[in-house]
Amino acid sequence: MAKLIDGKLISSQIKDELKNKIENEGISATLAVIQVGNDPASTVYVGNKKKACEYIGIGSKSFELGDNTTEDELLALIDRLNDDEMINGILVQLPLPSHIDEKKIINRISPLKDVDGFHPWSVGNLCIGQEGFVSCTPAGIIELLKRSDIKIEGKECVVIGRSNIVGKPMALLLLANNGTVTVCHSKTKNLKDICKRADILVAAVGKPKMINSEYIKEGATVIDVGIHRMDDGKLCGDVDFDDVSPHAGAITPVPGGVGPMTIAMLMVNCVQAATRKER
Ligand code: NAD
Repeated sequence: MAKLIDGKLISSQIKDELKNKIENEGISATLAVIQVGNDPASTVYVGNKKKACEYIGIGSKSFELGDNTTEDELLALIDRLNDDEMINGILVQLPLPSHIDEKKIINRISPLKDVDGFHPWSVGNLCIGQEGFVSCTPAGIIELLKRSDIKIEGKECVVIGRSNIVGKPMALLLLANNGTVTVCHSKTKNLKDICKRADILVAAVGKPKMINSEYIKEGATVIDVGIHRMDDGKLCGDVDFDDVSPHAGAITPVPGGVGPMTIAMLMVNCVQAATRKER
């Protein structure tokens, strides 16, 4: 049976380390959290982010804007927060209503306050191996692997999914850690054969339980990024956990695997934003 990679435990260790750092070093940090509209899932995510801030001892300033907020109004708020020295990080909860261009909004956030790591500047730094903010979910996966003593160097790593927020930065991070990386996507042929080569398989495909034991090499590490609510109300991932876990060496559960790491790494980025020397 596979070793369970406990994201809940590891994320709380990271939050405790940050809480201590903030107390010991007297760090003062404030995150601005912007939500447009009242999508219930977004409200839950925003609430969890604010709770995490409170726990580790950083301030959060909420901006809850109506559905009818215009793109110009949102851009003006971001300009104001970019100029506000009391604000260290700016987070715009996605998705935004369809009349607002997400790309334009992300591009307007100062790269120095881009704690989500979505700005092209942050992505460019990641690509060429320079310091910068890294997208929280893939950064969290690297922490899960490191803290579970799973070596990346020299390993065959396969990432299923090429989205800007998970698949692509995941592939870049595995590469930066000296993995041999293959990125698969909806047009990939022979997906099973490629996945079966993986020592480390990351599923970020957005399809409930698609990855079963036929995709798994015996003893592989399986990281499940997917989150889906099933008809019975339970959560599941992109990986069929019951089918895969007898064959994997290590596996993340859903819930309690990758999910909690995303917020922990957001907190890491907020502390980084408040302490970076180069401005
Ligand atoms: P996305 O829909 O943007 O990307 C999915 C990717 O999977 C695409 O690149 C697509 O090419 C690929 N794909 C789709 N069907 C495929 C197939 N049959 N074979 C191979 N590749 C295929 O999704 P995303 O934003 O990257 O998120 C992926 C999953 O991770 C979703 O379930 C999402 O809810 C979840 N997610 C979780 C967290 C977290 O904190 N745990 C964060 C972000 C996303």
